[in-house]
Amino acid sequence: MTSIDVIVPCYNEEAVLGHFFEVCDGVLKGLAGYTYRFLFINDGSSDGTLAIMRKLAAAHPQVKYLSFSRNFGKESAMYAGFCYADADLVIVMDADLQHPPHMIPDMLRGIEEGYDCCAAMRSSREGESRIHSFFSRAFYRLNNRMSKIKLPQGAVDFRVMKKTMVDAILQLSEVERFSKGIFSWVGFDTKWYPYENIERAMGSSKWSFSGLFSYALDGITSFSTAPLRLVSGMGLVISLVAFIYILVTLIQTLLFGIDVPGYVTTLCAVLFLGGVIELSIGVLGEYLGHMYKESKHRPLFIVKDTNLADPRKREAES
Ligand code: UDP
Ligand code: MG
Repeated sequence: MTSIDVIVPCYNEEAVLGHFFEVCDGVLKGLAGYTYRFLFINDGSSDGTLAIMRKLAAAHPQVKYLSFSRNFGKESAMYAGFCYADADLVIVMDADLQHPPHMIPDMLRGIEEGYDCCAAMRSSREGESRIHSFFSRAFYRLNNRMSKIKLPQGAVDFRVMKKTMVDAILQLSEVERFSKGIFSWVGFDTKWYPYENIERAMGSSKWSFSGLFSYALDGITSFSTAPLRLVSGMGLVISLVAFIYILVTLIQTLLFGIDVPGYVTTLCAVLFLGGVIELSIGVLGEYLGHMYKESKHRPLFIVKDTNLADPRKREAES
């Protein structure tokens, strides 16, 4: 028997959680050779999500839950799931049925074939606003150009992983977690399963546009120092151009004397350089911000309530 832990981060999912459980449990029940349990993570929901988890847990022994003391974000919820999972295989998926449970048997077959990880990727961006999908594409292109850690276009946080891979993920102890990058960073053989994007079953998405933007920025700055290089490169090019311009102006002045005062030139140079300097400080600030947050070593989540009998957290053994 192979054991499976299904990790489901939930934030205000009262509308869909019961339905999700029915559908997903139905799929898992039909699998021969596997035992499974759900590990629902209540990420500080303000609605009845926890009550539904408790109800499900009372009726089904395969339901475990972990409830945070406040909203810590999906990354922390997934991380908590990894910490408390102890099965041979771990599945992570969303509660809103955007990650089709009927793909699980196929993905498990991939693991049986010998892959360490089977992950889903969206083959279309249907149901997403045009501007959202434009920026999303731009993000992947930019990231993959800047960083050695490649993110496949459309990869979602729906995957089956072997325990060894989960252990590797837990060894990355950063506080600011960008799972898409972490999954890719740890390596392991991954098989990809494309699927058509589905609108969420009920409830609403928790992402705002600005939230996605800062997620993308964090993604790039967590895995690549290319922006820092870019800033140094920019400084070098500008210094070179400035040097040439100084030479030209000096020679001009020596040969022809000073004619009209260069009002426009001065203004342009000051504004341009001002902009570049601000930008460079901003880029430095992004990295400094990461260092600041990492240096505090705060826990990624705080558990307030759980029905795990022996809530033993697996620590990264490093
Ligand atoms: N989620 C979470 N904490 C948060 C935000 C979201 O645990 O702070 C969960 C949410 O309940 C869902 C999954 O993460 O199961 C994906 O969230 P959502 O559907 O809002 O994102 P989208 O599918 O639009 O990317
Ligand atoms: Mg969703």
